[in-house]
Amino acid sequence: MFKRIVLLGPPGAGKGTQAKLLAAKNGLAHLSTGDILRDEVARDTELGRKAKGYMNRGDLVPDGLIIDMIKGRLAEKSGFILDGFPRTVTQAEALEKILSIDVAINITLSREEVISRLSSRRVCRKCGKIYNLLYNPPKNEGVCDACGGEIFQRDDDKREVIENRYDVYMEATAPLIDFYEERGLLKDVDGSQPTEKVSEDILAVLGR
Ligand code: ADP
Ligand code: ADP
Ligand code: ZN
Repeated sequence: MFKRIVLLGPPGAGKGTQAKLLAAKNGLAHLSTGDILRDEVARDTELGRKAKGYMNRGDLVPDGLIIDMIKGRLAEKSGFILDGFPRTVTQAEALEKILSIDVAINITLSREEVISRLSSRRVCRKCGKIYNLLYNPPKNEGVCDACGGEIFQRDDDKREVIENRYDVYMEATAPLIDFYEERGLLKDVDGSQPTEKVSEDILAVLGR
């Protein structure tokens, strides 16, 4: 089974949802640069203070900061799922210098579906579980099924910011599809299917 996995796809494609499922079932480390950055912001670290403005506008945090942040965390890992990294060709080239990956799974989703899903996304503040008011709402409004934590809407899941994030994706991140295709590492998965079906298709790509 492939163990060094990059998840590509627009914001809202389901990368976080699928990465959490895969990591839990297969003992792989889940590295989400978005989650790491939000934690840095919450702890008001130097990196968090530098990153916050970019994140709230839906722009990318500069490559140098991201590459330094991810480097140390990758070093000792044998199996991992990269969720939200790389997001630029510069980041992908830096990753190649650190280690080789087995596969890049491109989760596809249309712009309309991206906007609909992100507008209705909610997240648990305590454990990070991902919900959707339309597709998988929590059983009790505002309360996490898994841990009882408070459910909130991310600052960047507001309409104008969502639209900017999609444009940024098309410009800076979509070129990675060709980047990994040229290297023979790209596999597409249709992200518009139900979560369980997307999960099955990913497992098929990974070879189990
Ligand atoms: P989503 O999962 O909705 O696409 P993320 O949680 O991955 O969003 O990222 C949230 C924000 O964090 C991004 O809009 C960007 O500002 C910043 N970010 C996350 N990963 C990266 C990265 N690899 N490079 C630059 N910025 C990043
Ligand atoms: P990403 O990490 O790519 O930004 P998420 O995993 O956070 O995406 O998912 C974005 C939103 O869409 C969340 O509200 C999540 O619950 C929902 N979602 C994820 N996968 C599916 C799916 N296959 N069908 C419907 N909704 C989904
Ligand atoms: Zn929770």
